[in-house]
Amino acid sequence: MTAMDRVWAEQAVQMELTSGLLPCPFEVGVWPGRAGVRFGWTLEAPGGPEASTAEICFRLADLVDRIPICLCQVHGDTIVDADRVQPVDISSPPVGDGLMSAGRRLLMGVSIADCAPVFLASRGGVAVLHAGWRGVAGRILPGALELIERLWGVSPSDVELILGPCIGPCCFEVSAAVAALFPEHVRRRHRTGWHVDLPGTLLDQWLSSGGAAQRFMRLDRCTVCGTPLMYSHRRAPNRGRNFAFMYRLESDQASPA
Ligand SMILES: [Zn+2]
Repeated sequence: MTAMDRVWAEQAVQMELTSGLLPCPFEVGVWPGRAGVRFGWTLEAPGGPEASTAEICFRLADLVDRIPICLCQVHGDTIVDADRVQPVDISSPPVGDGLMSAGRRLLMGVSIADCAPVFLASRGGVAVLHAGWRGVAGRILPGALELIERLWGVSPSDVELILGPCIGPCCFEVSAAVAALFPEHVRRRHRTGWHVDLPGTLLDQWLSSGGAAQRFMRLDRCTVCGTPLMYSHRRAPNRGRNFAFMYRLESDQASPA
């Protein structure tokens, strides 16, 4: 067990490695304290650059008998209320970088490649965000907490967060202009450029938006240098994307599907 796995184990997050009917392995986790909430990610770029995010989303949804919904992502801060955009047309998904749903019919997902998949769960519903440096600088996470409070009446301190694998401060080198968008304590000079701590920034924003420290759960796995090796845009540009997804069972008390 690596140090990263221990972080995860201490937070009592159970992950299961499987491949189902997909052309790539993926991990699925059971949300701690919410047996009916599932979240996960593919470990390799599924099927190479040709396999679209929508295709993987539809296959996964089929596997767990849910209606698929994914996005046309633009590295922005728009969060789509997925309950209002049914049915989804595979050829023209809604534009945005986050999905939220109060229901149990959907499998929602975002494509990631070093950017952070952020999963949120609350008594009002669940959400998944795609957060790269643009999304984080654009404060997509505080925006999601505001929406959850406004639409579902759940205060930020009652929301739980799981941060999936993403590029760590070890590997996230950016230009001085990008680094300047981040507070001093989450960036540092590194040889010719700068390194930025994306997970650290998300934690900062979480706490300053009223999120509870003990409800921020984090898989400390870097997509570039961590194990198992995931698809990384930095390591192998334009070879595809990973897909991070979330869905709910019929009941939060249900046993694993
Ligand atoms: Zn790394």
